[in-house]
Amino acid sequence: MYFLIGVIILIVFCLTFYFYIRIRIRRTLDSFGFQGMNIKEIIEEARLEDQEVPKSLSSMDRIYLEQIRKDFPKLNINELKRESEKVLLDCIHGVEKNDTSRLNGKIKSFVKSMIHDNEGKNVTYDDVKIHNTVVADYKNEKGIATIHFATSYQYYLNTNGHSVKTQDRCRTEFICVYDIQKVEIEKKSLSIHCPNCGSPIRNFSHENCEYCGSSLIENMKKVFVCNDIVRY
Ligand SMILES: [Zn+2]
Repeated sequence: MYFLIGVIILIVFCLTFYFYIRIRIRRTLDSFGFQGMNIKEIIEEARLEDQEVPKSLSSMDRIYLEQIRKDFPKLNINELKRESEKVLLDCIHGVEKNDTSRLNGKIKSFVKSMIHDNEGKNVTYDDVKIHNTVVADYKNEKGIATIHFATSYQYYLNTNGHSVKTQDRCRTEFICVYDIQKVEIEKKSLSIHCPNCGSPIRNFSHENCEYCGSSLIENMKKVFVCNDIVRY
């Protein structure tokens, strides 16, 4: 008898608690501007917003552009931004074709890891649209200048015929080795390749590329090359 009363009291207590919590959640949601929407609808709306709103970039253009212009008066930064977008598109094509043979160093590893993430599925990136590319960081020390670009872009990720609109963001690192004598390659873990033929440069004491024979120091003074790319 007492047991039964105990169970009834417990059930009444649990129901009261359940409705109390529901009312509290409702009020909290209303106070955040989600009037009349249930949690499922709110999650759905957040998902749609994720698909439609481009990922934000923190542009440092105003801070660094003048410094870059001062250090490299002949460099066309907009051209380099387009170059950075081209690296991204090349990576995407590499993933689609499951082919990394034309890529080098960290960029090759990046594409390999993306292919691995797709678990061998047939993936295409349809209607790729680049929203914006900005300078995210700039450093100039010990014979190497480094520019980081951040790019916001969207695409329809098509996996085995199932297409999902996706907003994405990546960061590329462009380096210019303008004074080889000052560079501490080991410390910087750079994977530097010949700007002319793309072969890896193993020995920095050589003035010419071991493969194509072009003058390394002369070429590298002028050229920013992509050293790394990551999504973030
Ligand atoms: Zn070469």
